[in-house]
Amino acid sequence: MTAQLLGGKELARKIKAQVTADIQSLDGGRPTLAVVVATEDDATHWYVRSIASAAGKAGVDCRVIDLGAGASQAKLEAEIVSLAEDPGVHGLILQTPLPPGVSPAQLVGLIPPEKDVDGANPVSLGRLAVGECAFAPATARSVIELLDHHGIPVSGRHVAVVGRSTVVGKPLAHLLLQRDATVTVCHSRSVPLARFTQPADIVVVAAGKARLLSSEHISPGAVVVDVGTHVLPDGRLAGDADEASISEVASAFSPVPGGVGSVTTALLLLHTVEAWRGNRVERPRDAEGREAPEASPAARG
Ligand code: NAP
Repeated sequence: MTAQLLGGKELARKIKAQVTADIQSLDGGRPTLAVVVATEDDATHWYVRSIASAAGKAGVDCRVIDLGAGASQAKLEAEIVSLAEDPGVHGLILQTPLPPGVSPAQLVGLIPPEKDVDGANPVSLGRLAVGECAFAPATARSVIELLDHHGIPVSGRHVAVVGRSTVVGKPLAHLLLQRDATVTVCHSRSVPLARFTQPADIVVVAAGKARLLSSEHISPGAVVVDVGTHVLPDGRLAGDADEASISEVASAFSPVPGGVGSVTTALLLLHTVEAWRGNRVERPRDAEGREAPEASPAARG
């Protein structure tokens, strides 16, 4: 069987083109995405540069606030509160890793859900869980968009999600439930893993373990979506699935690189535009059709 490749690059281009078109269709102004960084980690800085570059090309202003690896909890909190209250900032991301001793949970709780374009605030996850409008983490939404793009239905199908993190596995499980999939969520105590993944029509692997998933974990014809990203000792990127073995058995699989990861940044930009448009729609207009000044977050409740 020749497995179909579920590439994400064309989808990413399509989403970025939609972002640009949306911005151009609303006369004047540009959405702004703020990214707070507090690390010297090279991979993080590379990722943030790639967001800023994609944003610039698509017409989104990207403000990178680098507080340095020694930033304190108080400094990070003050910065996030200031960006949360800034009406010129529409999307807000706090990049990990953070300095030792800093509590990410307290910080993400300060990101207002309407600016939480990477679904980091637990309120966003709670809203997803109860089916209310919220931004999902871009990576979790990427999986859904990738399946849609390649015409793979999830409704009525059994999806096994390997990984239960709050950034990927849990929000993805909720997104899949919203699409009427039957979802099994696996984690490190789901042993043997194959017992839970073999019956699934679709297996999404987000465990952070290189080559964890191989042909013996899936049924013939299953679809595999690989969220994992690892830099191998030789510098190449690999996922959580062993592509060579999976491709012998699966009907379709997403490659790493070039799959889910390609879509994530584009969705962050799309979420920023959605946040920007939300602000514009919500704001009342005066008799001449001008936007009224934005109320403070506190006044908006
Ligand atoms: P994480 O927070 O470390 O969570 C990993 C999850 O996998 C945990 O729930 C863990 O179970 C589970 N797990 C670990 N070993 C397992 C095993 N042998 N069998 C079954 N489950 C196992 O990781 P994450 O942040 O969700 O990231 C997962 C992967 O996605 C990483 O490779 C990361 O680099 C990648 N990622 C990619 C993107 C992208 O845009 N492409 C974005 C974010 C993350 P327990 O809960 O029991 O510990």
